[in-house]
Amino acid sequence: MKLKILVTAGDGVGPEVTNEAVAVLKEVASAGGHTFEFDAKRIGGVAIVQDGTPLPAETVAAALSSDAVLLGAVGGNEFNSMPADKRPEAGLLGIRSALGGFANLRPAFAFKELAINSPLRPEIVEGADILFVRELLGGLYFGKPREWNKEKKEAWNTMRYTREEVARVARIAFQLAQKRKKKLTSVDKANVLEVSQLWRATVNEVAAEFPDVTVEHQYVDAMSMHLMNRPRDFDVVLTENLFGDILTDESSVITGSMGMLPSATLGGKVNLYEPVHGSAPDIAGKGLANPVGAIMSAALLLRHSAGLEKEAVSIETAVRKVLEQGFRTTDLVRGKAQGLTVLSTTEMGAKVREAVKLLLA
Ligand code: NAD
Repeated sequence: MKLKILVTAGDGVGPEVTNEAVAVLKEVASAGGHTFEFDAKRIGGVAIVQDGTPLPAETVAAALSSDAVLLGAVGGNEFNSMPADKRPEAGLLGIRSALGGFANLRPAFAFKELAINSPLRPEIVEGADILFVRELLGGLYFGKPREWNKEKKEAWNTMRYTREEVARVARIAFQLAQKRKKKLTSVDKANVLEVSQLWRATVNEVAAEFPDVTVEHQYVDAMSMHLMNRPRDFDVVLTENLFGDILTDESSVITGSMGMLPSATLGGKVNLYEPVHGSAPDIAGKGLANPVGAIMSAALLLRHSAGLEKEAVSIETAVRKVLEQGFRTTDLVRGKAQGLTVLSTTEMGAKVREAVKLLLA
């Protein structure tokens, strides 16, 4: 397998965690005789400083000619006073829209060893394993008209979807459900919103193409409660942009630390993989960042851009094994560190690599 991967490490802890993800990918390549070629380009604050723009044209061109993009994080306190379209985050939005992915995958899972880190009771979160599929390019965040009319002291946004926009993301969610527990929960607000009624009707139409997947519909308000009361009952959760934004952040409490969570954005010209967390300026450069979110994003890259399922699973299993052995980065230690070994970013990366090597041997 030959794969061209563009790495845009970005700012803060971005380079620290992506270095570890790349090292794990190199381990997988050498174990399986694969050729992974890595190119690196700037994005975010580092690009503002060196190129005068958060998203240089060269980065976009390299992204579009790669097989997959692995992104770290962008942002830094020194850029906070800049206008929104000049800030590092504009680079992130820019690359997402240049690549055109419309299906944002965000797993929310609970490792047994980390159940104690969740504010939810261990018996509620243990074994939870949800894959959110959030529509990323439509709905309230992009719908027009949108305006804050200051004279009239009035503002409005538009939640809008076409049938095709719903159908294409629903198909991805159903295909993913087929490879998991064959259960899909679609979340809407069809008791109030016409756009949700279209959403529900379209999901039901697409469901006919996937008779092996069981579908249920939930209203978003009820779902926000079910996720905290009984997260283990859900497998693939499909929802629109705004609801997905809120529910995925809510569900990150199941895992217990932002540093653990990966994401993938599929469906566009090139898929994009990135940890969920930001640039964490408070801990950047101190070796304190948890690289697991970035490493698990590399696993998603192997699964969705290379079809290397066994290798993806080996990374996920390696992370579990390392946690079982009591290794933790600082963010994963709550209260007593008794019986645990606290590791730096690079030490954690090395432990995961070692475990991957053993699993693929
Ligand atoms: P953040 O995710 O960077 O940090 C939130 C908290 O989580 C901090 O206490 C941080 O130390 C901790 N944390 C984050 N990642 C961690 C990791 N890998 N290991 C251990 N602890 C970790 O969010 P924030 O503080 O709101 O934002 C900081 C900057 O990042 C801002 O400039 C923001 O705009 C940007 N941001 C970027 C992205 C992205 O690039 N995808 C996402 C969110 C925020």
